[in-house]
Amino acid sequence: MQLTMKLAIAILTLPSVAYAASAPPAPSLTPLIRINVPTVALTHVTLFDGSEGAAKHDQTVVIDHGKLAAVGPTASVAIPPGASVLDESGKTLLPGLIGMHEHLFYISAGGGPGHLLLGTEQAESAPRLYLAAGITTARTTGAIEPATDLALKRAIEQGTQAGPDLDVTGPYLDGRPNAILQNQSLAGPDDARETVDYWSKRGATSFKAYTYITPAELKAAIDEAHAHGAKLTGHLCSVGYTEAIQMGIDNLEHGLPEDKEFDSRKKPGVCPAADAQAGHSIVALDVHGPEIQGLIHTMISHHVALTSTLAVYENFEPEEPSLDALQGTKSALSPTSWSEFLKLRDLIKQHPRYQSPETMAQILRKEMEFEREFVRQGGLLMAGCDPTGIGGVVAGYGDQREMELLVQAGFSPSESVAIYSSHAAKYLGRENMIGTVVPGMRADLLLLDGDFEHDVSIIRKPEIVFKEGIGWDSAKLQASVAGIAGQR
Ligand SMILES: [Zn+2]
Repeated sequence: MQLTMKLAIAILTLPSVAYAASAPPAPSLTPLIRINVPTVALTHVTLFDGSEGAAKHDQTVVIDHGKLAAVGPTASVAIPPGASVLDESGKTLLPGLIGMHEHLFYISAGGGPGHLLLGTEQAESAPRLYLAAGITTARTTGAIEPATDLALKRAIEQGTQAGPDLDVTGPYLDGRPNAILQNQSLAGPDDARETVDYWSKRGATSFKAYTYITPAELKAAIDEAHAHGAKLTGHLCSVGYTEAIQMGIDNLEHGLPEDKEFDSRKKPGVCPAADAQAGHSIVALDVHGPEIQGLIHTMISHHVALTSTLAVYENFEPEEPSLDALQGTKSALSPTSWSEFLKLRDLIKQHPRYQSPETMAQILRKEMEFEREFVRQGGLLMAGCDPTGIGGVVAGYGDQREMELLVQAGFSPSESVAIYSSHAAKYLGRENMIGTVVPGMRADLLLLDGDFEHDVSIIRKPEIVFKEGIGWDSAKLQASVAGIAGQR
């Protein structure tokens, strides 16, 4: 993840009018749709309803005009006359997932001297890959091309593009230097305020502070975002978590490894060097010790959410995930990007830039422990794939891996689903519309071909993704953009 800094990683309630029913899909999208009738009954499914409760077996879910009309045991749910009835025995139904650290770009080296990064906008592939994986709502957590992201959001609402509903985050709010060539370096607190004001007026509903922002810029950006009814999250480094929480930040990205307040070399307002020592200082922390316990208490008492991005941490381990688990990623990426990724994976094995692969694995395990402890104490944990790293995390497929890693971290399948649905809905202030499978909610659902309760790898077998009652065909969405993600 330190590699990340240089080489890679890259809301209060929104006005409800912004989430009025979307326009019907344009005729050009019809080949990607499997079910488009007003009333559908999915019978005999195993249901995870978005709460932390256990899976419910032999359930029937009735969709009517884009909303959930009935949910309950198959034996007791009345199926309305005229409904299309689909027997889904042996399959699992989840709420539409809410990805909270998604990007619409792919990261690559190539920014020239200084090892800067470049992001390449994935306007064609990313929205479809997210939707195919069951992501029906996504927050873009940092934009390289905010105007493009906003245009995609509108196109999805207007039915001319297939994709999740988007909460668009404005451009990265970074200081100097910054790791991504396209990012603007803020020139001070006034610039931070102006930037947030400018993009809020154009539809951004979220902002993300980045690693080199100064404390004064961060404070100005938080206050300006809140004045616009937007929320602000951070992938921090120059500002420690406790300091950012006291300034009013809403959300923290990635987790413990990005909190430098426990690094003895940290100077106020300065991001310490990304070297091997940084990793060791994180691994040495005890999640039951006073530092972490104090941090968790401060986060929870200030209602600051945490976004899990385990898949991108894992991406810095040269052997994980297995090539087998990367088949979907391979199918999505262009041959150029796939071979570039394999090259980098090999390179970090031979020449770890800052952290050895063993240290990266320890950092991932420490982060898993931290997330479990945060949730155990009542913290609001959300998740996303963060399609950056060394290029092996791709929209949608990365979310599938993230879900598996949440379970590996020790969360139950139902807790992992809740992290990816109802928790995020709560953060977005839309828990009365999305994030759970109960009558009256929007018909956003993910149908998996298999038994997720006993084998979470079934998350890799999405079959139909319902968004406002329209059943998108996952395989067709994926096939429509196969081989074009990344760089071409
Ligand atoms: Zn990110």
